[in-house]
Amino acid sequence: MVAGPVIAMGMGMAMSVVVVTAFRRVGMDGVGIGRFHGQIRLAAGMPIRPCVFVGEGPHWRNRGVAPIFALRASLRRSINGTGPSAKRTECLMSQAPSRSLVGRAALITGSTSGIGLAIARALAAEGADVVINGFGDAASIEKERAALEADFKVRAAYSPADMTKPDEIAAMVAFAETTLGKVDILVNNAGIQHVSPIEDFPPEKWDQIIAINLSSAFHAIRAAVPGMKARKWGRIINTASAHSLVASPFKSAYVAAKHGIAGLTKTVALELATHGVTVNAISPGYVWTPLVERQIPDTMKARGLTREQVINDVLLGGQPTKQFVTVEQVGAMAAFLCSDAASQVTGANMQIDGGWVAQ
Ligand code: NAD
Repeated sequence: MVAGPVIAMGMGMAMSVVVVTAFRRVGMDGVGIGRFHGQIRLAAGMPIRPCVFVGEGPHWRNRGVAPIFALRASLRRSINGTGPSAKRTECLMSQAPSRSLVGRAALITGSTSGIGLAIARALAAEGADVVINGFGDAASIEKERAALEADFKVRAAYSPADMTKPDEIAAMVAFAETTLGKVDILVNNAGIQHVSPIEDFPPEKWDQIIAINLSSAFHAIRAAVPGMKARKWGRIINTASAHSLVASPFKSAYVAAKHGIAGLTKTVALELATHGVTVNAISPGYVWTPLVERQIPDTMKARGLTREQVINDVLLGGQPTKQFVTVEQVGAMAAFLCSDAASQVTGANMQIDGGWVAQ
């Protein structure tokens, strides 16, 4: 998904603002016919609506590397009624075809903030009903839940289950099955961090990180799989980390848990391979979220560095692009893994890390 620029253009009598917030190319042939599923906001303040953009003509050809430019040009020509391909380009406003997860139900753990919330919004944007979970201020959580319903016209519910408690995890899956009728998509995303030299690492922090970042996925998968098997369709996504593949000092529990989740992903993928259920991990590098922000003071202390040194030399030091991953990029990867296009992707560990583990 790509955040697009604002394009001002004439539309009939009125001047409208078109903001392409995201799009996904779904097919392009050699003679320049393109179909894009995307989202469009037709004027400031209006809701984002799913669209199918259909274009034919030379401007659609060979645009795989920069489809946003073809899309912008085509929209401008289409709406302005000018340009060589104006007659052959349509912008169709439609609900169903562009939303690949209509009728699906998703449960996302740790989704009151950061990456989990972005995944919930990405799946809801594709039409999935969602149950969000996590801690935080009750009013803020209710605001996020209501926004999911209002922005994407889906059902959204909230479970306060604590991912350190197996009985609450089982109850959360049962709640989602009762509220939404089923759990087609399970995203095990809840996670915490603690940064400390091994000899000072508090044993209770180790236990808590292993429980939230690893064992909760086991408990949730265990509870959700029977329904997925019965319906012969399911998607399980575990938010791992670049730390599922490489280590960093002072993060013993986190790295151990994330390596564990990578192994759990592969094992369950094999078990469910013939049941229509895919199981994959997403491994982001550094994403700017509260989890990252909170570890800066501990890292300053553990390594004797300033805040700027931690951000530039430690966090982005290992990320060759020198940029943080965005939560929207992780959400888009989750939506892809839930799509039919990804039905043969299973047991994979999808890296979104600016080249970190390529080194
Ligand atoms: P975040 O702190 O913004 O979100 C964490 C979420 O987990 C919140 O909703 C929080 O309420 C929830 N949570 C924490 N403890 C919980 C518990 N006991 N029970 C239920 N929910 C609980 O952090 P984030 O950066 O969005 O992290 C989300 C996931 O992404 C984690 O698994 C993390 O390890 C992983 N990750 C993050 C980064 C990054 O750079 N931010 C990189 C790689 C992987």
